[in-house]
Parts: sequence; structure tokens; C-alpha cells
Amino acid sequence: MKLKDKVAVITGGGNGIGAAMARRFARDGARALVLADLDGDAARRVAGEIGPVATGVQVDVSREDQVAALVQDTIARHGCIDLFASNAGVSISKGLETTDAEWELAWSVNLMAHVYAARAVVPHMLERGEGYLLQTASAAGLLSISDASYAVTKHGAVAFAEWLSITYGNRGIKVSCFCPMGVRTNMLLNSVGEVDQQTLLQGAVAPEDAADAIAAGLDEERFLILTHLEVLEYIRRKTGDYDRWL
Ligand code: ADP
Repeated sequence: MKLKDKVAVITGGGNGIGAAMARRFARDGARALVLADLDGDAARRVAGEIGPVATGVQVDVSREDQVAALVQDTIARHGCIDLFASNAGVSISKGLETTDAEWELAWSVNLMAHVYAARAVVPHMLERGEGYLLQTASAAGLLSISDASYAVTKHGAVAFAEWLSITYGNRGIKVSCFCPMGVRTNMLLNSVGEVDQQTLLQGAVAPEDAADAIAAGLDEERFLILTHLEVLEYIRRKTGDYDRWL
């Protein structure tokens, strides 16, 4: 999919990967970008930096009514949704001591939010005969690294993306799932101590590079699980820098 003249919704668009995706989609000529984030101020700030093509709204993706309203408002305002990037996420950074309330939070933001988005937007895309669903999961969705609730809920997100693709892929809806290992965002930095942050800052992928790899992936015809290794390979090809990651 080319972003030129397209309408995209990006949840978690106020920070990190979501904000970088919004900037990249704007450069690619998107007609309208709706940045939805629990942190409404951050979403509005990023939208303001991008310009009139972007709008920032406060949305809690763990609430189905708010996700449904986001979809309906966007269609009412811009006529359609070409791409829905379900990207918001939380990391609890705990193991067995994760409380029930924290498990529920991880479950609702990292998994159910994708379900709410699909429930709201798939009928619209089926009606149009086309659409793109992009889910941000994590390498923790493929291998159970990171904290317990993150790994479990991100596995669910990968499975759900795959199920969506199997079920709707032959009816015009493309699905991809982004599974990075280390992107230099607040979430990654907050999950480790100060000493480790130095190491991470050297080794982690910049959100802008992640967004570029995602944008390149939109052209793929197949169901795409974009892994961290593929992002690194993409950066190597883009920059010709083969030493940086060795
Ligand atoms: P990353 O980009 O690596 O996922 P960040 O922490 O930089 O990590 O970005 C995650 C984004 O998701 C933040 O902007 C955060 O406010 C947003 N977010 C977290 N929980 C929710 C939620 N319930 N509803 C909407 N956005 C959320």
C-alpha cells in the first residue's frame, strides 16, 4: 500500500514508534492522520508538529466504546480508513509478582485493543473491499523474552494478526504485525536501569528506522511478520552500514 492520499489511524501515536510512523506516513503524502493516544497532549503535540494533515485525540484503547468512536469519527470526518495501525502498548516490567490488575491492563491494551479495532474497522474495510491492518506486537510475541504479561499478551497479538490475515486476507484486507526487539522508546528505557540504558542506546533501533521499515513493509503482498532482524537488514540496506550491528 502506498500512503499517498490515504487516511490512517495510529494508536499510541503520541510517542515512540507510533509518532515516528505518523511522521513517516505524513512524508509519504497521507491525506489524513489521526493520532490516538491515552496521552492526548502528546498526540496533539506530535500532530501539531506534523501539520494540518494530522489530528491528535485522547483515546483509551482498552475501552471498546472509545475505539469504536475513534473509528466512526474518523470515517465521518475523512470518509474512510485505509490503514489502522493498532500500535499502543504497555509494559508492566514484572514477573510472577504481576498483580491481577496489571495482568488485566496488559491484556486489555496489548491484546484486546487489537480485537476492538478489528471489530470496529473490519466491516468498513470489507464494505470497501480493501484496507490495511497493522499491529505492533514485539519480539516477545515470538519468543517469551521480557516480562511475563508482556510476552503472553504479545504472543496473543501475533496470533490474532495471523488469524485476521488467514480469515480476511482473501477479501482485500492486508495484515501485518511488527515484532521489534529493541526500539529506542520510553517503554524500552523505562524497563531497564541506568547502566543498561547506555547499552540500549548504542544497540537499539531508532523509532524513525523502525517506521521506515514498516513503511517499506506495507508494499509486501504476503502476511508480514516484520521481525527485528528484518528491520536491521532493512537499515543495513538503507545506510550501507554493515558494521554497526556486529
Ligand atoms: P513503544 O513505541 O515502544 O510502544 P512508547 O511508550 O514510546 O513505546 O509508546 C507507547 C504509546 O502507547 C504511548 O504514547 C502511550 O501513551 C500509549 N498508550 C499506552 N496505553 C494506552 C491506552 N490504554 N490507550 C491509548 N494509548 C496508550
